[in-house]
Amino acid sequence: MTVPAEVRTFRWMPLDHQRHAIPGDTLARDTPVTTLCGHVTVMPDHEPTKGEWLWWTCAACYEKAKGYQHVALTSPR
Ligand SMILES: [Zn+2]
Repeated sequence: MTVPAEVRTFRWMPLDHQRHAIPGDTLARDTPVTTLCGHVTVMPDHEPTKGEWLWWTCAACYEKAKGYQHVALTSPR
């Protein structure tokens, strides 16, 4: 077992009608983003709605995210 040099982080984000995992350092709205499953899209230009958070979880992102550390949207520093 090897320890990664840096902790890879991710967060969930509703994108294109699926809940994808995106790299944890991606925060800006309306900017290009590549999800963990390799889907290239654009960050929403608004706060995700409650309905959007209910979209299906992307299975490929779910698998990939197991190797990542989850960070909350409002993590304290
Ligand atoms: Zn995905």
